[in-house]
Amino acid sequence: MYKIKGYWDAHTVPEATELLAQNPQLRIIAGGTDVLIKMHHGQFAEAELLSIRGIKSLQSIRQSEDGTILIGALATFSQIFNDPVIQANIPVLGEAAISMGGPQIRNIATMGGNICNGATSADSASTLFALNASLRLESSAGERLVPIREFYLGPGKVDLKPGELLTEFVISAQEYQGFGGHYIKFATRKAMDIATLGVSAMCRVDGNTLAEVRIGLGVAGPTPLRCVEAEEFAQGQEITAATLAEIGKLAVKSTKARTSWRASKEYREHLVEELTQRALKTAIVRAGGEELA
Ligand SMILES: Cc1cc2nc3c(=O)[nH]c(=O)nc-3n(C[C@H](O)[C@H](O)[C@H](O)COP(=O)(O)OP(=O)(O)OC[C@H]3O[C@@H](n4cnc5c(N)ncnc54)[C@H](O)[C@@H]3O)c2cc1C
Repeated sequence: MYKIKGYWDAHTVPEATELLAQNPQLRIIAGGTDVLIKMHHGQFAEAELLSIRGIKSLQSIRQSEDGTILIGALATFSQIFNDPVIQANIPVLGEAAISMGGPQIRNIATMGGNICNGATSADSASTLFALNASLRLESSAGERLVPIREFYLGPGKVDLKPGELLTEFVISAQEYQGFGGHYIKFATRKAMDIATLGVSAMCRVDGNTLAEVRIGLGVAGPTPLRCVEAEEFAQGQEITAATLAEIGKLAVKSTKARTSWRASKEYREHLVEELTQRALKTAIVRAGGEELA
């Protein structure tokens, strides 16, 4: 049973930000796949909802002339997976998108909602971290662009100020051009399961050398994170099994995994070490490198 005290519908961004400015108690609802579950479980009692689903301008995925990819906050996971701009330029985000939920959830759940709920398990988050994506946040007072690595403040906490709406994800050309990437979701079921660990690896190669490596992890700490030490080590290293093994080991150092009913801390750390190497192996081939035996 849902206890909904009030319901507003916005059709443009200015309409939504104005409503938020006048009614700070409003809770934004996009696909509703998190909000409605929480309401069903008794959180957000007597909620007043502001639906942004009708804001058409937030549904698009486009590429500007300079190569920047702009993904509207309301783009659904099905849309992201099927989109030609994503498929041609950042297929690793498509891989993350198809790994989440099942078809019904992917058809309605938005990437904006996935990031704004602040969960470390969000399937899109580790790839958006690896892509150095930024978030455009708009309010009646103006807008700001925040790197996703600064947006997460803690478990379930994001840097969304009162009255702000996430309108789009911005990924500039230099963050994806020349990179190969691979996302691995480790879960106990093949579909409809929350990740035990999510690993997104991206890299550029120069012959048999790693020119740049980025590793984004989900569920390896209270928020999604990047494996900075492993990334710094990787730069300029020859592509060998020993290099990958060292990267896997160093990746664990960036984690703050914990034991939960899904997996122990030690098991998660083992997954980080192993899956980082596997994800990177595939990313290397996709970046034009040789396949490691
Ligand atoms: C059966 C089921 C399976 C699931 N499986 C997965 C899975 O495999 N992987 C995974 O990552 N998640 C999964 N989820 C969780 C959920 O579907 C995702 O997090 C989804 O992306 C949330 O998007 P939404 O549009 O439904 O968000 P909503 O529920 O509408 O909103 C989520 C939160 O974000 C806020 N919000 C939404 N949009 C904006 C915006 N534009 N600006 C500011 N705030 C905003 C809302 O106020 C709310 O706090 C699953 C959920 C269900 C019910």
